[in-house]
Amino acid sequence: QDHGLARDVLAGMRDIPDFPINGVVFKDFTPLLLDPSLRDRIVADTVHRRQGRVDVVAGIEARGFILGAMIAHALGVGFVPVRKEGKLPSAVHSRSYALEYGTATLEIHQDAVSNGERVLIVDDVLATGGTLAATCELIERCGASVAAIELVLEIGSLQGRDRLERYDVSSILTV
Ligand code: AMP
Repeated sequence: QDHGLARDVLAGMRDIPDFPINGVVFKDFTPLLLDPSLRDRIVADTVHRRQGRVDVVAGIEARGFILGAMIAHALGVGFVPVRKEGKLPSAVHSRSYALEYGTATLEIHQDAVSNGERVLIVDDVLATGGTLAATCELIERCGASVAAIELVLEIGSLQGRDRLERYDVSSILTV
C-alpha cells in the first residue's frame, strides 16, 4: 500500500474556479500527468486492487482515456473507449443523462465488450455520478458486468457515490 499517495495526489492537482461555467470549481489533474513517478504510483494503486479481477478496462472520454489506457496496459487487458455522442464509427449503444447544466450523451460500441466480461471503468473525477451511472448502464446493455470503478478524486459533497451504490467504487482521494 502506498500511504503517501492521497497526499501527493492532492498536492499535484489544482483548482480552477469558474470552469467550465460560473460556480464550478474544476479539479484539474493534468499536472499529475507531468510527473512520471506519481503517474506510475496512481496506476500501481489500481493494479494492486484489480489485478486478475478484470477482463477489460473502459475509459470515459477524455481524461478517462489517459488513465484508463495506462491502467489497461499495466493490467495486460484490453481497452474500450466510452465516447461522447457521434464519435464512434460502428454500431453503438447510447445513453443520455442530466448534467449540472444541460444534458450529455455517451456511447459505446455494441461489440466492444462481450457477454459475461468483467469491466473496470476508469475516470478522473466523480462529481454527481451521472457520467458513471450512464457508463455502467452502457456496459450492462452489452451484456458485460461492471467489476469496479476507479477514480483519482471524488467530490464528497456532490454525493455521486449514492447513485453508484450497487458498484465497487474506489478513489485515491475524497475532498
Ligand atoms: P459527474 O457530475 O459525476 O457526471 O461528472 C461529469 C464528468 O465531468 C466526469 O467525467 C468528471 O471527470 C467531470 N467533472 C465534473 N465535475 C468536475 C469538477 N469539478 N472537476 C473536474 N472534473 C469534473
